Amino acid sequence: MKRILVLGGGASGILAAIAAAEESRGEARVTLIEQNPKVGKKLLATGNGRCNLDNRDPAPGHYFTSDRKRLEEMLKAIERLNLERWFEDHGLITRSDEAGRVYPYSNQASDFVDLLSLWLKRAGVQVQTGCRVKGLERGRNCWQLTLESGRVIPADAVICAMGGKAGPQFGTDGFSYGFAWQQGCRYEPIYPCLVPLKCRKDQVADLSGVRVKAAASLWEGENRLAGEEGEIQFTDYGLSGIAVMNLSGYFVPGREHRALSIRLDLFPHMSEEELTALLQRRVSLMSQTDAAGFMTGLLQRRVGLAVWKAAGLGSTDRKISALKQQCWQKLAHGLKNWEFNGLSPKEWKLAQTTGGGVRLSLLDPESFRALDHDGLYFVGESVDCAGQCGGFNLHWAFGSGILAGRDCGRI
Ligand SMILES: Cc1cc2nc3c(=O)[nH]c(=O)nc-3n(C[C@H](O)[C@H](O)[C@H](O)COP(=O)(O)OP(=O)(O)OC[C@H]3O[C@@H](n4cnc5c(N)ncnc54)[C@H](O)[C@@H]3O)c2cc1C
Repeated sequence: MKRILVLGGGASGILAAIAAAEESRGEARVTLIEQNPKVGKKLLATGNGRCNLDNRDPAPGHYFTSDRKRLEEMLKAIERLNLERWFEDHGLITRSDEAGRVYPYSNQASDFVDLLSLWLKRAGVQVQTGCRVKGLERGRNCWQLTLESGRVIPADAVICAMGGKAGPQFGTDGFSYGFAWQQGCRYEPIYPCLVPLKCRKDQVADLSGVRVKAAASLWEGENRLAGEEGEIQFTDYGLSGIAVMNLSGYFVPGREHRALSIRLDLFPHMSEEELTALLQRRVSLMSQTDAAGFMTGLLQRRVGLAVWKAAGLGSTDRKISALKQQCWQKLAHGLKNWEFNGLSPKEWKLAQTTGGGVRLSLLDPESFRALDHDGLYFVGESVDCAGQCGGFNLHWAFGSGILAGRDCGRI
């Protein structure tokens, strides 16, 4: 009987184990090894406890990688799999929102994890929790997996689904990369992705806890790298929120982070000229007030005053009537180009995924099998692909897991 080991009981590992067991129709013994006391710990925290498990439009543009061509091939293979149908066939009912984000119909990650446990049981997967993988060696006829406990388990095929380094509190401490290296599989330098960004403290002083809707763009000098619209959350160290987290994917190792800046456009639906005209119309209404009074009704007070200062308009105590005409142009420019510098990503604990990882060119795009290794697979976050917020990471994790599981479950 073929022995299949799946290492890591997270998103990709669980589905890889189920797919392998189903594909082999009882002809393979599939064992899932997880170090946590239960499988799916991280899944419980996804989507703020709702589990945004997929996206209806998983286009390559939603992913970061250093091998875009190979990534496109892999995403096509996942597309052919038809994940939505796969879930439906297994009894999961979902709902999706206007951004294409897919959730369990119950809107509860815990409900989804319970269902995954039922699927594992029904497929006949042996689940071994509380077991930490230590190393893997190629024996003469099979693989030999060593656990921290010293136990050695032989296997004919091994699927490595031990995740990345993001969210170490869920059990992912970057073990996968050393593990891959030991097997001779090179990986792209890793970095925290989908993570809040620190910036110069004086630029966010007094703003902690404030949220604004804005168009955020990332700049390298005067070169615009990317843009995102959404809610920006200010913290005591810098910026957070989905738009900022998505921009964090550009903070790749080797790039001088200090040279990058984020600009917020607080009025993306208006041109600078239109905004200047709007501000000028307000002057007659607000001429007897100060900066705080002038900004009332435009923006939250703390945001208004911060932009005022950032735009270089000087003291916030002066009467509006004392200000010169060109001030309104300057303020309009500031409202559309509120700049934050000295950027750097926050720590791994706050990251939702890992940029970099096992090189895609080392894997077969249809099955995620390591090309130079007989019966060895790498799936999920451990490989060089990181998605934006919106269900793209779980799409990748589930899709790659099923493809690898099916391939090695084929007897
Ligand atoms: C807070 C948070 C919210 C998120 N929300 C979303 C979301 O809503 N939608 C989305 O698409 N993505 C989301 N993500 C990202 C997504 O959860 C991950 O990209 C995805 O889970 C990766 O799947 P994986 O199977 O590769 O790794 P994981 O799910 O991280 O699983 C890896 C497993 O391997 C185990 N493991 C590691 N090392 C060992 C070892 N040595 N021995 C044994 N076991 C080991 C770990 O304990 C873990 O259970 C979120 C991430 C976080 C942190």
